[in-house]
Amino acid sequence: MRLTRRGFLSLTGPVMAPAPPPSILVHEHVLVDFIGAEKIGPGRYDENTVFALVNPKLQELVKLGCRRFQECTPNFIGRAPRLLKRLADASGLEIWTNTGLYAARNHLFLPGWAKQESAEALAKRWAAEYRNGVDGMKPRFIKIGVNRGPLHELDRKIVRAAALCSNETGLTIASHTGNGLAAREQLDILLAARTKPEKFVWVHADGEKDHNFHREIGKAGAWVEFDHIGPTEGSLAWHLDCVQFMEKQGLLGRTLISQDAGYYKPGEPNGGAWKDYTHLYTKFVPKLSARQRDILLWENPRAAFG
Ligand SMILES: [Zn+2]
Repeated sequence: MRLTRRGFLSLTGPVMAPAPPPSILVHEHVLVDFIGAEKIGPGRYDENTVFALVNPKLQELVKLGCRRFQECTPNFIGRAPRLLKRLADASGLEIWTNTGLYAARNHLFLPGWAKQESAEALAKRWAAEYRNGVDGMKPRFIKIGVNRGPLHELDRKIVRAAALCSNETGLTIASHTGNGLAAREQLDILLAARTKPEKFVWVHADGEKDHNFHREIGKAGAWVEFDHIGPTEGSLAWHLDCVQFMEKQGLLGRTLISQDAGYYKPGEPNGGAWKDYTHLYTKFVPKLSARQRDILLWENPRAAFG
């Protein structure tokens, strides 16, 4: 009989460490294929190879308390629901995939038909994916991408399609956003379509160095996501500064954090350089209070995405 760390008497063998607090990673990737919408297709990578590489990395996350992993790779840039489902089943980690299209990088990842179709038609396609699932997996959020503001007409159309799809399905929109101006412009498009601001997540808000935009978008009721936490120089100081700024503004409840980490890149030797999933847990979370951690990694992700 031994006294455990929590002070309980253990009668049954080895003492277990306390379970890590639950968390959700809102913006990560398993695989991204940068070949472009015109050249992408099956056979660009071996699924078993990617599975064998990524599965242990997801199992590591489970041990750190991660309960949900939101895979943010859109269609035509490497979305792989069949692979994700396999990984979820094997690792025990809940993995979410998305619907939507990525217009950033000057529309390289938009197929020709998406350039022609109306916002209404695109929204219908995405809502159908939500209802019917894709390769056995139901998209649980809308992921789009836009270039820097002022937004191109095609970018504006993709945003409006996301708004219409969100209105129909209730799904939250996470948008890869070039800068603060583009965030503001997107929010205007959503509001004009009568989409509630809390359905919008400004992805890569940490790429905008002017905190005034973070305050503006958070105060408007949308989510501000600082999602490049990682080993790059200056990340720790900048991302702590972002969190502290939002907290001072009373906007911690509108703030999300993640790493944009991973990911296997077809066409590169062994999938290219890998950005570690555990950095946030080992290097960033220890700098937060328990309360901040629970808000940023558990309460807010559930409030933002359900
Ligand atoms: Zn990303």
